[in-house]
Amino acid sequence: MKHTRPKGTRDFLPPESARKQRAEAVFRRCAELYGFQEAVTPTFEHTEVFVKSSGVTSDVVTKEMYTFKDRSERELTLRPEGTPGLVRAILENGLRIPCRLYYVGPMFRYNRPQKGRYREFYQLGVESFGEAGPEVDAEVIALGAEFFGALGIRDCETQVNSIGCRACRPQYHEQLKRFLTERSSELCPECRTRMEQNPLRTFDCKNETCQAILGNAPKPKDNLCSACAEHFQAVLAALRARDVKFALNDRMVRGLDYYSRTAFEYISRTIGAQDSLGGGGRYDYLVEDFGGPATPAVGFALGEERALLAAEQSDKPVVSRRLVFVIAMSDGERAAAGELLAELRKAGVPAQMDYDHRKPKAQFRSADNAGAQYCAILGERELAQGLVSLKDLTTGEQQELKRTELLARLAGQQMADSR
Ligand SMILES: [Zn+2]
Ligand SMILES: [Zn+2]
Repeated sequence: MKHTRPKGTRDFLPPESARKQRAEAVFRRCAELYGFQEAVTPTFEHTEVFVKSSGVTSDVVTKEMYTFKDRSERELTLRPEGTPGLVRAILENGLRIPCRLYYVGPMFRYNRPQKGRYREFYQLGVESFGEAGPEVDAEVIALGAEFFGALGIRDCETQVNSIGCRACRPQYHEQLKRFLTERSSELCPECRTRMEQNPLRTFDCKNETCQAILGNAPKPKDNLCSACAEHFQAVLAALRARDVKFALNDRMVRGLDYYSRTAFEYISRTIGAQDSLGGGGRYDYLVEDFGGPATPAVGFALGEERALLAAEQSDKPVVSRRLVFVIAMSDGERAAAGELLAELRKAGVPAQMDYDHRKPKAQFRSADNAGAQYCAILGERELAQGLVSLKDLTTGEQQELKRTELLARLAGQQMADSR
């Protein structure tokens, strides 16, 4: 029987797994520079956590959730996104607000797999709870852009919009609904449903006729209350002050029900026609909707697989760990080789050796397979003189060094790499 992975999942194996690890390390560093701290929440929650937050009309809830009953008949769902679990966690644990949290981990959605999109996918996200100022929106937007820059993605465009608040959105919804109702015969069936439930979501339709109609629809940006308009202008000013390049996109509304005011998205053309690398926005009502105190919040979620795809072209080659393979030319040097191995590891240098008593030639092959950069060779003569032959497998160069010199040099390189 041949086993295959389930549709929409993927394996991360070396060297791709090293790229993934590096991207996450870069993300953690960026997030921590802005004062965010890591939060780790469960990969599944009670189903109502997601129904409550994403909104019953959203595609995520209606079509894409992995929901199941456990053996005690509990209704559980594999998290389709990170925010609701985080909100649940801060309320349940009584976290002091304001607080800034970030997360890294797998999410699950039953959707159509395509390039860079999986049913199990990794997201990198940040959330600021309890900060209302427009500068916070700008900081969060800047942090995402900075992360993509640090990954070497050059063509990432940051798009920004405002979709209003509780005060101004209902009127706008009515206005948009009227506009769509007058043209409902031309709309696709899905948009006719959206028009009734959440007219804002028609902006997400890919149908060309719908797109054309929506081109003339009233825009959220033109219907903001004065407080929202002021907030939006202040966000844009703060972005300019931080030298963050952005474009206004007055049709971008984001797919979840809980956003308010600022919405933003990162677009790259490297992967496909115009693919989103992720985005976010303000969600000032979500914590309250969960039964918590009124808590302004803003955050984003970025797609790790798509970021890795977009980074592929511009990627500096990943400095793989500088693995050293210790080689004993005969069984007489095995004990000394074992000691050298332990010393290398103690000095922070990744090292490995053969335990199957293979011939030197086979050991060199193993070193190659393991992706080692160096072979540290111990033969009878080296042992007698207290030396080690160091062979660089990438250049083929070989030189003899004193044991202490060898350790100092490799440990030094390791330190330099990790900076
Ligand atoms: Zn408003
Ligand atoms: Zn449509």
